[in-house]
Amino acid sequence: MDNKNYRMCTRCVMDTTAPEIVFDEKGVCNFCKEYDVLAVKTVLRPLDVRLKELDEAVLKIKELGKGQKYDCLIGLSGGVDSSYICLWAKKVGLRPLIVHFDNGWNSELAVKNIENIIQKLGFDLHTHVISWEEFKDLQLAYLKASVIDIEVPTDQLIFASLFKIAKKYKIKSVVNGLNIVTEAILPRSWVYMDKLDIVNLTNIHKKFGTIPLKNFPKLGLTKQYINRILYKMNSVAPLNLLDYNKNEVKETLINELGWRDYGGKHYESVFTRFYQGYILLKKFGVDKRKAHLSTMIASGQITREEALQELARPTYDEKLQKEDLEYVIKKFGLTQSEFDELMNKPTVPHEFYGTQWDKHEFRKHYIFKRLVGPLLNVVAAIKK
Ligand SMILES: [Zn+2]
Repeated sequence: MDNKNYRMCTRCVMDTTAPEIVFDEKGVCNFCKEYDVLAVKTVLRPLDVRLKELDEAVLKIKELGKGQKYDCLIGLSGGVDSSYICLWAKKVGLRPLIVHFDNGWNSELAVKNIENIIQKLGFDLHTHVISWEEFKDLQLAYLKASVIDIEVPTDQLIFASLFKIAKKYKIKSVVNGLNIVTEAILPRSWVYMDKLDIVNLTNIHKKFGTIPLKNFPKLGLTKQYINRILYKMNSVAPLNLLDYNKNEVKETLINELGWRDYGGKHYESVFTRFYQGYILLKKFGVDKRKAHLSTMIASGQITREEALQELARPTYDEKLQKEDLEYVIKKFGLTQSEFDELMNKPTVPHEFYGTQWDKHEFRKHYIFKRLVGPLLNVVAAIKK
């Protein structure tokens, strides 16, 4: 980053490391403004209105789940938000099937927290273990492709599998941990927004992978389209309707579930911790904490001074970073110099490898939609 042109927002801590940032005459950035617009429509509405909406959402989940063993699906990583969703579900009397995705990178603490939660709340847990050899091959392909969002394989895995499991158990509702007051700010350039772009994923793997992906679940545009019509999932995001304060939530989790803190957002996974705290910063010059902290400033949960103090510290404990580095290299079967080479490779935009919105791919999907769509609507009508 050219120091001369470096600039930080005067209200939050977003800065010119997000190239799309723009400032107004007071030096306030577009992310702050976008947050304000979103908040007015969502989390800033009166609490009683939101809570009433939440009550109705709970009733709907129960209604749709009548007669089934489970009335909803909850994905649990062991992190703050998903753990809190489980506790909330217990309190409002839901009967969830808890799903945990084990992509091979769980921290020991995450495993402990999950065990604890399940035991204390008495819910059923379905742990979805994937083929490590395949997943490793896919993650390595992303590293070799030199694209920024190496978390796409995990996200694709979670979305696609959640859907499969819901269908298997005839579950109609998914309760998710989307959280505006802690996550709303995120520059497009820091992630790949089309997390479900199976064309991009397949092309990257074709080019850099070494073994076929036989078991990895894929949810492309066409499948999403069919699912949307045939299996209308009821999706609920309670955190956006509750009065959510991160520190209070942590306190509750510690007191009521014996939960233990990881010391960083999404640090329950060793890979995510290393990716966000090391790879993103060193290779891409991105400190993702800025987005998270800025959202917390915008939602009034911390002050800008507190955020600046946090940013002055290392992304996470430097001794642990070293341990993670060795662990990650070993787990990927790389040598130190092979890893260094990947870290030093120039970055490549995801779009370089082709996307589901490219003309040819999209046309295929569009033709399918036109031909199969009317038929699906008939089937959906019969099913009702
Ligand atoms: Zn700002």
